[in-house]
Amino acid sequence: MPRSAPVFDIQSLAVHDGEGLRTLVFLQGCPLRCSWCSNPEGQAAGPQMRWHAAKCSGCLACRDACTRGAVMAEVRDGRTVPAIDRRLCEACRERACLERCPTGALALSGRAMTAEALFKILRQDIRLYWNTGGGVTFGGGEPLLHPDFVADIAGRLRAYGVGTVVETCGEWDWEAAAPALEAAERIYFDLKTLGPEKHRRFTGRPNETILANLKRLAETRPGKMIISLPVIPGLSDTLEHAREIGALLAGWGLRRARLLPYHRLGIGKYETLGRAYPHRSGDRDVPPALVVAMQDALISAGLTVTVDG
Ligand code: SF4
Ligand code: SF4
Repeated sequence: MPRSAPVFDIQSLAVHDGEGLRTLVFLQGCPLRCSWCSNPEGQAAGPQMRWHAAKCSGCLACRDACTRGAVMAEVRDGRTVPAIDRRLCEACRERACLERCPTGALALSGRAMTAEALFKILRQDIRLYWNTGGGVTFGGGEPLLHPDFVADIAGRLRAYGVGTVVETCGEWDWEAAAPALEAAERIYFDLKTLGPEKHRRFTGRPNETILANLKRLAETRPGKMIISLPVIPGLSDTLEHAREIGALLAGWGLRRARLLPYHRLGIGKYETLGRAYPHRSGDRDVPPALVVAMQDALISAGLTVTVDG
């Protein structure tokens, strides 16, 4: 049985999330529901039907094609458009709507790929990775929900002298994730906030498992670790937060971090999924001067810190 995983995006020639030129591979499914998530199409375990308003002619061929009655007509901003009932739609394997849509307004996000098929794509850029010190970065969703798949690809790349980065939210079972943790050259570990209740409020889950996994990684693989610190309005945009995190990381012997300032690049995706953007403080910007001050506070704690994004 070939190894496979649901992939919802592949971006080549990326210059972030690792060194050199990279291919970013996004795997579907995430245990968290961060309110500011910029990849909401990757949260659910299965493929997601997306509808792009700007491309839709309102012909309603999708409604006529759907045998499950998952598409209704509704009037929005003065024009008739399809409204998809997500509970019915996610159950469908036929996707006749896709075939009948004449404009490409409907698109499926996420498809199962075998490790062979993915590696065939990645292998085309191996010379670029060699020449630039780049490689492949797995993100998501949460890539460590597919640890054997990640380990398989990382092993194939390693045989060609290419390294793999894994970006993770940290919410996984240690034993299950072990093959991918071992195979990755570097781990970008997201640390959002230290308070369990605040973490639950903004991500849907408390953070005990995340902190336990981070501590264990600090003890066993400190050299692989770079801690990603999103600076999110209302959650983690204070100097006090940076000082608290800096003390914890330094105390655990972790030395490298990157600050990820808040952005709204994923907002448009929520509409394509029929969802409202859930982050309540999303209209507030994070002042660049605050990010610099947070960086200084983390450096004062003994860390090396970049500002990414
Ligand atoms: S994916 Fe299936 S259920 Fe969903 S709208 Fe299309 S045809 Fe209907
Ligand atoms: S078939 Fe395509 S273009 Fe026509 S209403 Fe449905 S989504 Fe819009």
